Amino acid sequence: MGAAVEKSLHEIGNGVFAYTQLPGSWGWSNAGLITDGAESLLVDTLFDEKITAEMLATMRRATPAAKRIDRVVNTHGNGDHCYGNSLVADAQIIGTVGCLEDLRESPASRNRLLMRAGRVVRALGPAARVIGRVLDAVGIHKLSHLAEASELALPLFEQFDFSCETVLPNRTFRDELKLKVGDKEVVLMELGPAHTSGDAVVWIPGDKTLFTGDILFKDAHPVVWQGPVSNWITGLHQLLQMDIETIVPGHGPLTDKSGLREILHYLEVLSGEARKRYNAGMTVEEAIIDIRLSEFDRWLDAERMYTNVHTLYRDFRGDNTQPDVLAMFAGMSRMRKRMRKHN
Ligand SMILES: [Zn+2]
Repeated sequence: MGAAVEKSLHEIGNGVFAYTQLPGSWGWSNAGLITDGAESLLVDTLFDEKITAEMLATMRRATPAAKRIDRVVNTHGNGDHCYGNSLVADAQIIGTVGCLEDLRESPASRNRLLMRAGRVVRALGPAARVIGRVLDAVGIHKLSHLAEASELALPLFEQFDFSCETVLPNRTFRDELKLKVGDKEVVLMELGPAHTSGDAVVWIPGDKTLFTGDILFKDAHPVVWQGPVSNWITGLHQLLQMDIETIVPGHGPLTDKSGLREILHYLEVLSGEARKRYNAGMTVEEAIIDIRLSEFDRWLDAERMYTNVHTLYRDFRGDNTQPDVLAMFAGMSRMRKRMRKHN
């Protein structure tokens, strides 16, 4: 069983709502609803059908405009923002080209298979470690990675049901897309690649409100899967220039521009720390063990630093290949264990 999750719908005002699942650790994302008159635009679905249905029911109780969801925006292609799409499959579902590609690469069925494989490996116990070491010796690391990744991922993700069919966006865009919801102007702006290969934010200029997707994690370490980190930093500077008062992050409580400044500071500090060690010739694994981010100690999910430093090292090398997600989860699992030992 995971920790308790507090789910709530917040009326931001003027027909705009935010749905939060706090504190917002792995898989527990936020979403939004933008309405004007009878028209509606849903910003993201959730990690499975059950929690998405629960959210839609809450929205329907709050406003008649939620009875029929006309359009959906997926801010990016991670499952915790898209796997509930099957419940709104009749709607126009909008995402960046990168969002579509990421989701096509990692549909819910893939998570389901990985979870099943993880449970098999867990049941094998010490035998899996022995076989893993034999395979490692001939350069096949998948089993070791799966065994380690499962220790972190199974308890986190067993709370979700990945049996849903993955419904992909049916309308894509690049850079920017302007929409009207009733008379309300809504601007979708692509800032990625950063967190993933196609991150978009949803801005309502008239209401000074921004839904960031996972360009912003509040009170948690962000996870930089794709990078380059410099792109994410540029995007945050761009958002800080805009006329915005209320910000709905991808995970964590509602905030304002201070939330953007915090994550900007984190990315700048971590980039500097990683760069120093890269220039000094440290390996990425040595750098991860050496870096201390004590000023962010109160933030959730500190193990994400593992993935973030790997992404920074790829940035420094000018390597824009995709991250090995299984290897990253294995490394984050090791890091979480190490942190437990030190605390
Ligand atoms: Zn997310």
